[in-house]
Amino acid sequence: MEARRPLYLGVDVGGTGIKIGLVDDLGRTIDFTAIATDEQRGPQDAVNRIAGACRRLLDAQGLSVQDVACIGLGTPGTMDIPQGMLLDPPNLPTWSNFPIRDRLAAACHRDVFFANDAGAAAYGEYWVGSGREFGSIVMLTLGTGVGGGIIIGDLSIDGENSHGSECGHIIIDSSPAARLCSCGQRGHLEAYASATALIQRTQEALARGRDSSLAERLADGEALSGLLVSREAEAGDRLAHELVMETADYLTIGVVTLIHTIDPGAVILGGAMNFGGEKSSLGRQFLQRVRDGVRARAFPVPASRVTIRFASLGGDAGYIGAAGLARVGWNRQSRS
Ligand SMILES: [Zn+2]
Repeated sequence: MEARRPLYLGVDVGGTGIKIGLVDDLGRTIDFTAIATDEQRGPQDAVNRIAGACRRLLDAQGLSVQDVACIGLGTPGTMDIPQGMLLDPPNLPTWSNFPIRDRLAAACHRDVFFANDAGAAAYGEYWVGSGREFGSIVMLTLGTGVGGGIIIGDLSIDGENSHGSECGHIIIDSSPAARLCSCGQRGHLEAYASATALIQRTQEALARGRDSSLAERLADGEALSGLLVSREAEAGDRLAHELVMETADYLTIGVVTLIHTIDPGAVILGGAMNFGGEKSSLGRQFLQRVRDGVRARAFPVPASRVTIRFASLGGDAGYIGAAGLARVGWNRQSRS
């Protein structure tokens, strides 16, 4: 593969790991590395280690930092994107109020473009993944929480205060007894459709005495996880299957609201909790359940035209998208 210049570095900071990729102008990964976040060593230590990992990545290709146009950096929020600041990220508790963008720029001697990690992942799918043939996408990332990214044109919708596209915190149940979300409020999509919520709903069903192979797995000492529910559902357990389809139904409520707000070309479902994705019968049933729910509940025109599908870049979406957003910022800067 002949890399198309200019080249970009994309950095995706997560709670446990940091992924760094060297990406060309067509969004292809030339090389890739990962380091531990080691959150407790503090943000400046991480910035220094990211800079070192970037140098080693470039060295291995016979390149130097001068061969890279700029760097894209995605981190979890909360953040102030225009100021390049981490504010109070729950996943990175010792990194609050840290000017991470400018510190990384100083350590790498390159301009750094700062993004929300979910926005970066959505941009990655939009640029070269499942959303590449669309002019706008909404991406929902199903994992411990429910992440959201909205891309319209080449723009990530970050909002006036860098708190936009928080699709996991759409209210889907306004009753006082609604489930409690990780953010402290009640009734949010994340409190119903995340892996955490699936585990909780499973525990409640088992406590009600529902018969299920899940009870046997737990008695064998296995830990309750979204993956375990998924596996038992795939193996034919009725309760597990019901719980997965219920997850799809909750997700549908959020997806319909997003379709009525954005009217995107595609809704992309990413994250680890994809029930095996397109490759598994359960994953396909899950996706079909969301599609059918949207057809039934959204306005007819967008409901019939919107594409709903799984993401395709997996864990690479974040650094590819961070590099892609840096490329957009770089091109805008060089034109003006
Ligand atoms: Zn919430």
